[in-house]
This record gives sequence, C-alpha cells and structure tokens, in this order.
Amino acid sequence: MKNKKNNPKQANFNQYWIFGTIAIIFLLLNIFSSSGNIGSVSTTPSKFFEFAANGDIEKIDIINKREVLVYLSRDARIKDEHKSSNSNSIFSVASRNPNYKFEFGDLQNFENNLSKINENLNPKIEISYVTKQNIWGDILISMLPFIVIIAIWIFIMRRMSGGATGGGGQIFSIGKSKAKLFDANSKVKVTFEDVAGLEGAKEEVQEIVDFLKNPKKYTALGGKIPKGALLIGSPGTGKTLLAKAVAGEAKVPFFSLSGSDFVEMFVGVGASRVRDLFKKAKEKSPSIIFIDEIDAIGRARGKSNFTGSNDERENTLNQLLTEMDGFGTNTNVIVIAATNRADVLDKALMRAGRFDRQIYVDLPDVRERKKIFEVHLKPLKKSSNVDVDFLSKQTPGFSGADIANVCNEAALIAARKNKKSVGKQDFLDAVDRIVGGLEKKNKIITEEEKKAVAFHEAGHATVSWMLEHAAPLVKVTIVPRGRSLGAAWYLPEERLIVRPEQMLDEMCATLGGRAAEKVIFNKISTGALSDLEKVTKQARAMVTVYGLNDKVGNLTYYDSSNGNEYGFTKPYSEQTAETIDKEISSIIEKQYQRAIRILKKNKKKLIQLAEVLLTKEVIFKDNLEEIFGKRPFDKDLETK
Ligand code: ADP
Ligand code: ZN
Repeated sequence: MKNKKNNPKQANFNQYWIFGTIAIIFLLLNIFSSSGNIGSVSTTPSKFFEFAANGDIEKIDIINKREVLVYLSRDARIKDEHKSSNSNSIFSVASRNPNYKFEFGDLQNFENNLSKINENLNPKIEISYVTKQNIWGDILISMLPFIVIIAIWIFIMRRMSGGATGGGGQIFSIGKSKAKLFDANSKVKVTFEDVAGLEGAKEEVQEIVDFLKNPKKYTALGGKIPKGALLIGSPGTGKTLLAKAVAGEAKVPFFSLSGSDFVEMFVGVGASRVRDLFKKAKEKSPSIIFIDEIDAIGRARGKSNFTGSNDERENTLNQLLTEMDGFGTNTNVIVIAATNRADVLDKALMRAGRFDRQIYVDLPDVRERKKIFEVHLKPLKKSSNVDVDFLSKQTPGFSGADIANVCNEAALIAARKNKKSVGKQDFLDAVDRIVGGLEKKNKIITEEEKKAVAFHEAGHATVSWMLEHAAPLVKVTIVPRGRSLGAAWYLPEERLIVRPEQMLDEMCATLGGRAAEKVIFNKISTGALSDLEKVTKQARAMVTVYGLNDKVGNLTYYDSSNGNEYGFTKPYSEQTAETIDKEISSIIEKQYQRAIRILKKNKKKLIQLAEVLLTKEVIFKDNLEEIFGKRPFDKDLETK
C-alpha cells in the first residue's frame, strides 16, 4: 500500500482551497455588510420632494452627508405609486428597510428645500444623520501593507527554493528533497551493456544488483545487506552511468541528486531534505538513492571551520549518517554515492554499515576506450575509414564523458562540412578541439614567434624520443589553440607505481622545450611557464611526498587524513625547508642540463624536425621515425 497522504501535489492543492475560501468569505461579508439598503429603489431628489409634499414620507436617514434613505409612512406604503418600492421586503423582516434611496448634490441646498417643505407638514419628516463605515473595506485597506509584504516574501522564497518542483507553493516544499526520481513510469533504461569497460567496478556492483533483486537469498543466511557503496573516480568516468545501470538492471526506482542540492542558505533545510529523501525512498523500497558529488556535504567535519559556515553542512552530514544507521537491513534502500575526492571525505562516512564498499572507477585504458568508442559510435553514421583502434590510441587520458563528447563533436563537425558520414579527420579534429580548445588559425603570431614555438615543441619531441622512460609521442602541433601556441601529445604509460628514473625522464622531456630554445637561439622565453609549473610540482612531490630524495630521506610530509592541508604551520623545521628547496632546484637543474646535452648532441635532427613542423604544422609519430629512425624503447605502444 502506498501512502498518498504525503503527496506534495495534493498538499499544494489544499493550500489553494484555503486561500480561495478565505477570499470568497471576504467578498460575501463585504456585500452583506456594506448595504443595509438592499432592495430600496433608486429615485431622484425631485421625485422625493414630490413625495414629501404629499406627506408620504415618515423619516429619512442622511448617510455620510451624501445619500438619503427614505422611509415611507404607513399609509403611503399601500399606495399604488409606491408599490414597486415595497415589493422586495424579504430583507425587512427584522428591521425596516428604506423604500427609496437617492443622492443629492449639495447638502446645504437639500436641507433648505427640505425644511421649507417640512414647515407645512404634520407630522413632520424625521431627519437623522448617520455615518456608516464600510468596515470590511477599511480592514482590507489596513491589511494592504501586510498583504504586499507577504506577497514579496512568497516571491523571494520561491526564488530561493529554485523552481525545482515546478508550479507554485514552493515555500511549503523547501525542506523537501530535490531528488529526481526514475521509477516505473520514467524507467531507467540504462543497463550494464551501456557501460563499456569498467569490468571490475561492474563486477562489484553486480553484487548490489543481486541484493536488490533477491534480498532473501542473503538475509536467509544471516548476512546483512550493504547500505551504501561509494564510487570513487575522476569526473566523467561513468559513475552516474554505473549507478543508473544498477537501478536499470535491478529494475528498482532510482533517486538521483547531487550533494549540493542539500545545501541551502537556511539552517536545517539540508537535514530536513535528507529525512524527506529517505522517507520517499523507503516508501518505494527496494530502491536506490544516488548522491553525486557527495563531498559537497561529506567533507571531514570540524576542520578549517573558522567562519562557522560549515555548521549547516555538518548537520546535513549528521542527518545522513543517522538515516543510514537508522534503517534496518530489511528496508532494501541502497545508497550509492559518487565523488572524485575520497581523501576529503569524513571518515565516519566510510565506517562499516555506511559506505563500506568503495569502488574505484578509473580513467579507461586503451582497451576500455575502444569499448566506450564502440558504444558511442553506434548511433553515428560513420564512413569506412574510421578505425576504432586508432581512435582509442589517439585519446590517452580521455574519460568516458570525453569520448562521448568526441563522438558528438565529430558528428557536428561533419555536419558543418555537409558530409554524408562522419570521417576519420572529423574525429581527429574533434579530439584536437577537446584537448586544446578551438583552433585559432587567425591568432596573430609573428614569424619569429612561430619559429620559437616550433623549436620548443621539437625540443620536447626530440628529448622524449631519446629517453627510455619518457612517454611515447603521439603528435606535435604548432597550431595555436585555446591559450596555447603549440603542443606535444604523448601516450602516457598507465603505470601504477612510478620509479624515480621514470619521473626524472619525464621531467627532462618536459624541460626539453626550454632547452631547445636555449640551444638554438641561446635565449629563453616565457613560453615554458606551464612546463616549469609541471616539473616544479613533480620535483616537490619527489622530495616531500614520495620520499625519493637522498638528502631529505625516506619520509613524507603528506598527510592522508588531512587532505594535505597544512594550515598555518609546516610540519618541518626551517633547516629542512631550506634543504627541500635546494633539492627541488637541484633536481630540476640537473634535468635541464641533461636535456641541453641531449639536444646539443642531436642538434641537426632537432633543426630538421622543427623545419618539418614549420611547414606541416602538425606531425605524427611517423614523421619522427623518418628523422630519428625507429625508437629503440618503443615496445608497449606496439603490443597495446
Ligand atoms: P561521472 O558521474 O563519473 O562524472 P557520468 O556517468 O555522468 O560521469 O558520465 C557522463 C557520460 O559519459 C555518460 O552519460 C556517458 O555518455 C559517458 N560515459 C562515461 N563513462 C562511460 C562508459 N564506461 N561507457 C559508456 N559511456 C560512458
Ligand atoms: Zn613546452
């Protein structure tokens, strides 16, 4: 049985009923109260004076010095000419109603005329002055400022709660969760087939699918169903996709939201949204709650809390933990969260019974990239020269989302060229565009600058070609793109552990750009900024993080529990700081000199390469082989 009471739409409907009823009551009261003179017939002053002269009138009320209500005498009421004024006497049961009413122009004038007539009459016309107030009108007017204030308030609240639920009445739902629900009606159609690669991760989540499909099998043996799983991986690696596939495979409702959806500027809103989310999920159990970017609320508590602004986030996190602890193993609600920064998460989140399963979703390797390409190439009309193997080799370091993006971008490029199908070159252009940003063919660049860029890039290419552990080169270009003037792309080996000689070779290749400028022009430039940044970081990591430096020794200043934030104090002494600085600079200097040596030895080839680059603008590995011959260390590229 589904409990319909908590349907938010119905709640809103009720609110409107209340408003409507109040408005109608107001209107009715207004009509009845303002008019004691209902049913009296309008007449004119001249007619009135005629009646008065005839002695038909018993008394008059002068209302607000503006209007006159006329009461006929007993005898006059039965006269034929006054018949119409008596017809609607239903209202005059309790108190007598006036028979006529009219407005006179000027009060003074009216009184003069009346007193003239009154002199000759017996009995005289009774005259009374009445001030009547329209109470309800007055109340309305006095309430107007409040109504305006309330209207403004509602408007602001709506703005703040951000139109997620659509329609009106959002002030009443600010504490409701903003989770998007995919259930039987809007079914999750993603299955494991749509998730390419990620074999290990799929195997781990397969278990969750089994739990959801057949919980009895596990509980019968006394086992407990897991409550949460944490997907850890860089953006775009398919975490959301994987969670959706779990829901799709298990055919259960899927609540999807982002950690930042809990955060609002009002205190307590986050916690109440968490409660609401879990309540909804339990109603639909078995179900899956997916919280993307959980680091928005799950950051370690009580740290760098100088401003106190984190209190609200802490409350939210506490509520989340309470909810996860709170539901029994038979609720069948599984929380899947995703983050790319597992190191900043609160340890309490990972405790047993919470997100105790951590599933790593890595960037795809060359084989997985191929599979992802296959998934995303399926809907495209591609020409026969598109080679999936080639594409997956050309896209080192790309995430699944990047690959999806490449496929889409390639289709757009082909369409722009009015092609019938998407060709190889369109894919390459798309890759370039995604890596480097838009091509800027018309960027103003002098001949001299172009030459400098060509030698810089040729320097990278040459040095990396000559070093055993440097990543093999894929492509060098001097077409300006985005903010860079040129680029050399490598196929990084996907290593799990890195040896110092590998790091040093890579640093040497990175410094090859500046070294080439020095060797050829004997001048250096600002063009090497990002190279320098990279090597400096790497050298610092060697010394302070990985303990790869003899002088500093086998120790690390990295603190995994601290998110690597030192705060105000450094964990080492001044002397050590000096040693670290010296070692970093000596490592870099050594590699720079090494790059210079390599380039001096291969100066001819370097110049040759730079010249090819200047004419062709883009060169590939094959062009390098023409100049340098086969690279002796290139084994992994062929086997992959
Ligand atoms: P994340 O949540 O890790 O940031 P998403 O799951 O949102 O990444 O992935 C974004 C998009 O990238 C997906 O919609 C899908 O099109 C594509 N994608 C990512 N990984 C894969 C994969 N392994 N197989 C197929 N498509 C993928
Ligand atoms: Zn460079």
